[in-house]
Amino acid sequence: MDTIQSNNYPIYFDNSITELVNFVKKGNYSRVFILTDENTGEHCLPLVKAQLDVLDNFDIIEVNAGEESKTIDFCIGIWKMLIDFGADRSCLMINLGGGVITDMGGFVASTYKRGIDFVHMPTTLLSQVDASVGGKTGVDVDGIKNIIGTFTQPKAVFMVDEFLKTLPSRQILSGLAEMLKHGLICDAAYWNKLKTSDLTVPAPELVHRSVEIKNEVVIEDPNEKGIRKSLNFGHTVGHAVETYSLLNDDDHLSHGEAIAIGMICEAWLSNKKIGLPDAELAEITSVLSSLYPKHLIEDSCHKVLYGLMQKDKKNQNGLINCTLLTHIGQYSIDNICTEDELCDSLRYYATL
Ligand code: NAD
Ligand code: ZN
Repeated sequence: MDTIQSNNYPIYFDNSITELVNFVKKGNYSRVFILTDENTGEHCLPLVKAQLDVLDNFDIIEVNAGEESKTIDFCIGIWKMLIDFGADRSCLMINLGGGVITDMGGFVASTYKRGIDFVHMPTTLLSQVDASVGGKTGVDVDGIKNIIGTFTQPKAVFMVDEFLKTLPSRQILSGLAEMLKHGLICDAAYWNKLKTSDLTVPAPELVHRSVEIKNEVVIEDPNEKGIRKSLNFGHTVGHAVETYSLLNDDDHLSHGEAIAIGMICEAWLSNKKIGLPDAELAEITSVLSSLYPKHLIEDSCHKVLYGLMQKDKKNQNGLINCTLLTHIGQYSIDNICTEDELCDSLRYYATL
């Protein structure tokens, strides 16, 4: 598969680990650090190490798995380790993990000594099709997601499809929601392909197409002024449902599970407000509800969910602004939705 060119850096798909070894050799780095979490240390690092062992100057930094690690305290821990190792400005950080590791590793590297080189090796579907592309780095503070961070591009991204084999199925579904979104916002043919494919572990060609779409969008609009808003489809309602579930459910929804619900609600809004045809709403609803388990959202939660939507950083002047669809494959940004409309969309989901 073709290497995808992003903002001055390549995204490799074929022989990625060999490409990584070549990249490291060429870069003449004083030292190489691999950032992992417990799971990627166990499942992914051995694949990389087997080939990277030709180099002798690399060290591994491992953090606990999960969003709880994506904090400034963990960053301080990593910065201190870099200092202890005597890391200078010409060292390299390899972020080997899901979105938590790529976001946090990117942030640590982009600030250590005002910035050292870093590359991503995303190991979850979500981080392959979303988090590793676009140059956003960051950490959470006081439970506020991604509140501190930078826009810094990696020097390269290396996609390895083998990594996905050890991912739990719920993690696959989480990344899949973003892939389906890519089809819905700008490529009907890709949506049709996804709809009819075996998605237990999506084929590398499908991952490649999603990365291509996300990359085109972020290259055209690096600072989120226009077309990048297309990526928000499903995320106004979805983020509120995700946050609510994080606060209230023991076994809370993953990001993608929440976005799948958000996409059904926002497809309904698209149908009511901007003419998404009935048949296309029915199709989106049926594909998403056959892939994702039903989640109970009672009317009594609507007020809180609406309150969460109002806090969304995408809003301006207290109005709730959604990215909707005029057709499958065609998005429309900046649609103001009222509280009644948003609650009705949640009722549509609840009656499925
Ligand atoms: P994650 O990094 O926490 O990974 C999910 C779980 O899977 C973890 O327990 C991890 O240890 C495990 N894991 C990772 N790779 C594995 C493998 N190959 N086999 C088995 N287990 C594996 O989370 P995520 O879902 O990848 O990403 C979520 C994060 O990404 C959030 O913090 C979100 O804010 C961020 N994100 C960032 C962007 C961006 O543009 N920067 C975009 C989307 C999401
Ligand atoms: Zn998302």
